[in-house]
Amino acid sequence: MKKERNIPNRTGETADPPCPEACAKLLAEWFARRARDLPWRGIQDPYGIWISEVMLQQTRVPVVRERWEAFLARFPSPRELAASDDDSLLAAWEGLGYYRRVRQLREAARTLVERHGGRLPEEPEAFAELPGVGPYTKGAVYSLAFDLPLPAIDGNAERVIARLLALEEPARKKPGRQRIEAFVLAMLRHRSPRVINQALMDLGAGPCSPKNPECHLCPLQSPCRARQEGTSSLFPVLPPRPRPTPVETHLLLALHGSCFLGRRIPKGEVNQGQIGLPGLGLPLPQKRSLEEYIRENLGAGAQAGPPLGSFNHSITRYKITVHVHPLQLHGPVQEPFAWFPRNGSLPLSTVTRKTLARFQQSLEQGGGSRA
Ligand code: SF4
Repeated sequence: MKKERNIPNRTGETADPPCPEACAKLLAEWFARRARDLPWRGIQDPYGIWISEVMLQQTRVPVVRERWEAFLARFPSPRELAASDDDSLLAAWEGLGYYRRVRQLREAARTLVERHGGRLPEEPEAFAELPGVGPYTKGAVYSLAFDLPLPAIDGNAERVIARLLALEEPARKKPGRQRIEAFVLAMLRHRSPRVINQALMDLGAGPCSPKNPECHLCPLQSPCRARQEGTSSLFPVLPPRPRPTPVETHLLLALHGSCFLGRRIPKGEVNQGQIGLPGLGLPLPQKRSLEEYIRENLGAGAQAGPPLGSFNHSITRYKITVHVHPLQLHGPVQEPFAWFPRNGSLPLSTVTRKTLARFQQSLEQGGGSRA
């Protein structure tokens, strides 16, 4: 591992470089007192831990808390997951976003059934060959389930170590990444990997938050170089985030009894397989007017009313303002559109769910939309 240099702190004193053994001890003691109480903590079923880790990628803990047990009840092992159809899979993942992740999970489960008897393999390297499994997921699952000394460096752990070392190299480029990993590995040699990896996750989710870290609550405040320098907010060094592109689109809401008008989103479009609403589409709207769209897709006599309202929604690098219009239909509904139950267990896209939650009541009060 690269030797840490001594640097003067703000008072001009020279600070010792952080010692992995001492940091591991501080982290383990802190974790024994302050570990977050999460439903997937304390289990040693690697499948359950894997599901929680995939859910936690890009989704906040409170949402995962609500969904993890229900998902495992529906798919208790890789065999049930491998055999799932699109509707049950996407419905079980509803609200967790980034649906590509759950399709990859199913693909990985199918490989487990074909090659590993429907169980996670004993060797982490064999697990890492499954679709969607990267170094973080491998490290998290095998250190948490089996206490193997594998680093699990998510954004939280990355931030903590980059600040602890006052790491000047960009944290996601090779030299910076290697220094972070080397430091974590050195800590894992001195304490339980299960404990150290989870302590780093919790520290990054708690006191060492991206903005305004609460160093007075942190077990690493004494060795932390960024705290000594008063430079915590400068780490980790990351490339600047691209600004989201603002776009606007228009969607149409039509109700008929307990149903709404929708279409199954085809393969190749964002949120494929889920139920979307008619309209100009997401994330980028089609280049035509709403009137042209209606004329070409919804038949003669169909009409949009003035907007019921708007809301914001983000997909990838787009910040989208979605305007929702009531749709009046005259005549039968044609493919690809159909009436879908509003309270069924179908996989609705997030935008469909948001639209129904916000506007179905005002549309009903206005007298419905099917002429
Ligand atoms: S002392 Fe502050 S900056 Fe350093 S690791 Fe702890 S919370 Fe983060």
